[in-house]
Formats: sequence, C-alpha cells, structure tokens
Amino acid sequence: SENLNIQQIRADFPILNEVINGKPLVYFDNAATTQKPRQVLDALLGYYEHSNANIHRGIHHLAEKATSEFEATRRRIQEFLNARLSEEIIFTYGTTDSINLVAQTYGRAFLKAGDEVIISTMEHHSNIVPWQMVCEETGAVLRVIPINDEGELLMDEYENMLSERTKFVSVVHVSNALGTINPVAEIIQKAHAVGAKVLIDGAQATAHIDLDVQALDCDFYTFSLHKLYGPTGMGTLYGKKELLDAMPPYRGGGEMIKEVTFEKTTYNELPYKFEAGTPNIADVVAAKAAFDYVDTLGKPHIAAYEHELLTYATDALQDIDGLRIVGQAKQKVSVVSFVMEGIHHQDIGVLLDQQGIAVRTGHHCTQPLMQRFGIAGTTRASFAVYNTTEEIDRLVQGLHKVKKMLG
Ligand code: PMP
Repeated sequence: SENLNIQQIRADFPILNEVINGKPLVYFDNAATTQKPRQVLDALLGYYEHSNANIHRGIHHLAEKATSEFEATRRRIQEFLNARLSEEIIFTYGTTDSINLVAQTYGRAFLKAGDEVIISTMEHHSNIVPWQMVCEETGAVLRVIPINDEGELLMDEYENMLSERTKFVSVVHVSNALGTINPVAEIIQKAHAVGAKVLIDGAQATAHIDLDVQALDCDFYTFSLHKLYGPTGMGTLYGKKELLDAMPPYRGGGEMIKEVTFEKTTYNELPYKFEAGTPNIADVVAAKAAFDYVDTLGKPHIAAYEHELLTYATDALQDIDGLRIVGQAKQKVSVVSFVMEGIHHQDIGVLLDQQGIAVRTGHHCTQPLMQRFGIAGTTRASFAVYNTTEEIDRLVQGLHKVKKMLG
C-alpha cells in the first residue's frame, strides 16, 4: 500500500504474534470480530487503573472523570457518523441489542396489523428474528427483498414491494456472508418516498466505509465496536432525535428515569432514556481509541488497501480447481466466501486451523441466504487492514493441501 505502513500497523496488534499449531497465526476471521490494537488495550487498562468509578451521579473526582471519558466517546461517535446531535447516539451492547431496541420500542408502538416491514434475503439473523417477533405480536407482515446469483439486491423488486403499507425497512449495509455493499442511499430515499422509516445494519460497514448518517438520511444506524478494532460488548444505535423522543423506553431501571414513585415514573431525556443500569463503561471509554485508530489510518486508505487484498484473493482462489466463490457483487468489501467441490466447509476450516489459518465456516448467521444459494454453508475469509498478500498465499497453499488430503 502507498499510504499505509502495513508492517507498522501489524506491530500495533500483539495477538498477530501468536503461534497456532506451530505456525504463525493468519487471522482471516475479521468479519466475526477484528483484533484490537495496543492503543485500545492501553485505553482499557488505563481506564481501570486511573478512572474507574460509576458514572453520572457521583460527585467525587473519579466519578466525574469516568463520566467525562464515557461522554467523550459519545461525542466521538457523533463525529464519526456525522450525526446532528450527541443525544442521537445511544450506547448498546452491540448491533443485535440495537436492532432489538428499535423493534421492541418503535415496532411495538407504531406497527399494526397489515403494516409491512421489509428486510432482505441477505440479512444476519439479528436483523430477521427481532422483526419476526414484533410482526407476530402486532400482525404486521414481513417481506423480503430477493437477490440475484451474484448476491446483489433486486432493486426493481424492492421498488415494487413499496407501498403505503410499508412502515419500516431494515437492511444490511454490507453483507457479512458475501461482502456485498448495498445501495443504502437509494434504499432509504425510496422508502422515505412512501413514508417508511429505515434502519441500516452497519455491523460490517463501519470498518470499511466512510459514513455520514445525515447525508444518508437513515432513521437508524447500528453497529458493534468489536468489528471496528474496538472492544466486545459495546455498540451503538444512532437514531433521529424526533423518532427516539417518540419511542417508548426499552429496559426499565436506574438512569433511564427522571422521577420514580410507586404511582408513576417519568422518564429521562435522550440519550439516557435508553441506557438503563450501569453501562459497559470501560469498553465505551476504550472504544474512543478504536475510532481514533481507524481515523488516523484513514478509512479511504484502509478501503483501498483492503480492496487490493480482495482482488488478490479473488484471483488466487478462483484459480483453484473446484472452488467456487459465493457472492460476486460488483460492490464488495474484503470478504471472500467459497465452497469446494466434494469437500465440507467444516473439514476445510479444521485443516486450515491445523496450518494456523483462522477462517469462519458454516451459515454465518444467514441461514435463509444459504438456502437461497442451495448450500449449507461456506468457508469465509475476511480481511482487515493488518492482513497481507503473503498471508493470502498461505491460504491458497493451505487449500491445495486440503484438496490433496480430501479432494
Ligand atoms: N449484522 C451483521 C451484518 C453482522 O455481521 C453481525 C455480526 N456477525 C451482526 C449483525 C450482529 O452483531 P453482534 O453480534 O455484534 O450483535
């Protein structure tokens, strides 16, 4: 890469020095979770060593320090997403938690029998099941945008589905199983034209694509920090203020209230209305270092380098006899999902692991998508900014070995 020093970046990630089954680790499971740079690990330890206290209600020094570090991450996310207001940033435990929050509050309050909710064939289970649950409760109907054989949404079919019955559209920005980048700006604009609200599941997008929620005009945007070089157990729900204000609260408890009596409770204002209980303070504080890390490298530089890896891997893997890549969208992030003739994906995963190569195998929490392709699962290699073409060469050698043993 012209703009990034990959060896220097690799040195920021201590885990990349691990030796697995006698071989240097090749970590190609980044769509499941990325590794964490020293900067994030230091922030996490630093918080516990120098700032740890419960937030918001304390008047002592540490409580104020912890609160201010916690709230600094909220403003950092506001900047990262280009949200209009910091109270539009709700801390959650991750994408799954964020989508459940919207389905259980917005969905239960505003969906009724006969209304339609649109998702797509390539959704992660976390953007299917919460909507099925709320549809079952309200009598709303779930509709699904189909895809073509390359793994791209059929936008004409989507347009035909939209009507005054459409109340909510919830689609993935980037498919975790295929790598497809969806035309979310167009999806949002068309949904708004019929008065529907839109949630974008950005779990796989935030590490690769520059984001501007005001330009996109999405109503909700969700992601998980652990896929963005940040800690586990922490995510974000962005929502437009007027919608968040109109939504009933989600979990009840401390912090989300204004005043409690046994007769009646009034609720706190945004964002605290949706943040009951002691949040994941340490991981929220450490997350700031992950945004700083990504922005210092520059997402356009990260995306350009990862695209080189994607092209290199796609070419090399396609040369392997009997290997077929699943998902060949024109717009893709650095994810390569594939099947091999006569060899089960689980066997591929086990044999690659013996060579120190970490990939993901199976349905990737997208069972309906696998059904669409008529397969039980794939082997998925997903690349991050610290991966190299030499590592892809090792994957290719590894797959040749798999073929020799099982093919
Ligand atoms: N959506 C997509 C597209 C994902 O890839 C994932 C994580 N695999 C999720 C949602 C769920 O994220 P989390 O497990 O962090 O809640």
